[in-house]
Amino acid sequence: MDKTTLAYWQKKAAALAIEGRAFIDGEYRAAESGRTFDCVSPIDGKGLAQVADCSDADVNTAVSAARRAFDASVWSGLNPRQRKAKLLKWAALMREHLDELALLETLDAGKPIGDTTSVDVPGAAYCVEWFAEAIDKVGGEVVPADHHLVGLVTREPLGVVAAVVPWNFPILMASWKFGPALAAGNSVVLKPSEKSPLSAIRVAQLALEAGIPAGVFNVVPGGGEAGKLLALHRDVDCLAFTGSTNVGKLIMQYAGQSNLKRVWLELGGKSPNIVLPDCPDIDRAAKTAAGAIFYNMGEMCTAGSRLLVHRDIKDVFLDRLIDAARGYIPGNPLDPDTSMGAIVDQLQLDRVLAYIEAGRAEAKLLHGGSRVQQDSGGFYIEPTVFDVSQHDAKIAREEIFGPVLSVITFDSIDEAVKIANDSDYGLAAAVWTSNLTTAHEVARRLRAGTVWVNCYDEGGDMNFPFGGYRQSGNGRDKSLHALEKYTELKSTLVRLR
Ligand code: NAP
Ligand code: MG
Repeated sequence: MDKTTLAYWQKKAAALAIEGRAFIDGEYRAAESGRTFDCVSPIDGKGLAQVADCSDADVNTAVSAARRAFDASVWSGLNPRQRKAKLLKWAALMREHLDELALLETLDAGKPIGDTTSVDVPGAAYCVEWFAEAIDKVGGEVVPADHHLVGLVTREPLGVVAAVVPWNFPILMASWKFGPALAAGNSVVLKPSEKSPLSAIRVAQLALEAGIPAGVFNVVPGGGEAGKLLALHRDVDCLAFTGSTNVGKLIMQYAGQSNLKRVWLELGGKSPNIVLPDCPDIDRAAKTAAGAIFYNMGEMCTAGSRLLVHRDIKDVFLDRLIDAARGYIPGNPLDPDTSMGAIVDQLQLDRVLAYIEAGRAEAKLLHGGSRVQQDSGGFYIEPTVFDVSQHDAKIAREEIFGPVLSVITFDSIDEAVKIANDSDYGLAAAVWTSNLTTAHEVARRLRAGTVWVNCYDEGGDMNFPFGGYRQSGNGRDKSLHALEKYTELKSTLVRLR
């Protein structure tokens, strides 16, 4: 059958066997309490599976299994080349099961199948491959020291790494944690979001198939409580988190209340996309600005949710932007032609609609603004654009995590930079200009972990560290720097005589 049709994916979905149990110590297990929660598809609001609702007994079992595996050195004790081989096998299995994993992701999170097959699942496999390929090439240092000493600086795995991740790129965000953490030799306990647990549950079995020993990679689905238990756990050495700033703040507190585990936070954003009057290509910039906020239904930590446009080009720019927005038509994400899928669940739908209501009161609605496709039973919202006169309006200040753009007008570069930096967040930013000097100067002044010049969301490869300034978090995913999060630095001083 033709993979480019809705019918193909619907048929495949109907035949899919979905696993909903936790994966602990190399096997699928129901939650010890027997409790499950409904895993619902945002495509039509219908139930997909019952998923294990893990609580303290399950979290404890998973952490103990991870600890045992670590202490037994079945993974950390391997030559990095051997870990590499098994991780590469795992990535190959992800690619082999591309359609199945992508389908789980689309059904569970409402993401377009065209994206899950081309971005999410291949991206997760690539992340695992990248860290696998890196790990047998990074060494320690022999450092200058007194003549009677040999000074070594080495990196060692931490032990048990817990990863708590969100639902917008379920398997991809998880891979940014488990890729480097496993490559470095740690054991991992992964807690996916209860809104999108299915792909994580499935790849756990593939890890075992690839030869990653039992206990080294565990998945405990459940709500925020399971995440909290991991963050409070005294035998977890590191909590790597991607999610909201509010929960990130709690995680730091849990670490402080328990064992001061290492905490790494990839949090929210309200990223400014600045278009200067000498923008080199208004057409491309407008299309890119639309993609920056409407791709993945706006459920993007890096969403270019604040568009700062110079007054001189505002009218022409907005015309083209809205033309581009019209190209995002919410529809069934199982249809390969769909560019905009469903919002992840009813809760998030209501949240986004509440922001749109707030926007109607404080800004001028230029485009969209409504829930659509309600007959489907699913959760769909039109691409929405507001012209905001006060840059500190609620919709222009708070992270919405939906397809809602605030357009802000400015008159000078200084004003644009000031508005851009006037945010609790600092995840990403962009500037459009033809002037090389202006580009570099503005990029330097923007307080953000990633700055794009004349583009947005570029850099899908692993070489760029990814993370935020200020309340967008700490530490960096991706790149060799990610290994710093999952290793301790040890100085060894050997006295020769
Ligand atoms: P969230 O509500 O903070 O949840 C993130 C994860 O934390 C989920 O697994 C969640 O479980 C769990 N959790 C909830 N309460 C917890 C608690 N008290 N203790 C421990 N864990 C808890 O965020 P989200 O709505 O899933 O994701 C959206 C957010 O993620 C946005 O703010 C977005 O910007 C951010 N994000 C950031 C990046 C980045 O790299 N900077 C990337 C993607 C997303 P349940 O969902 O099961 O409740
Ligand atoms: Mg779901």
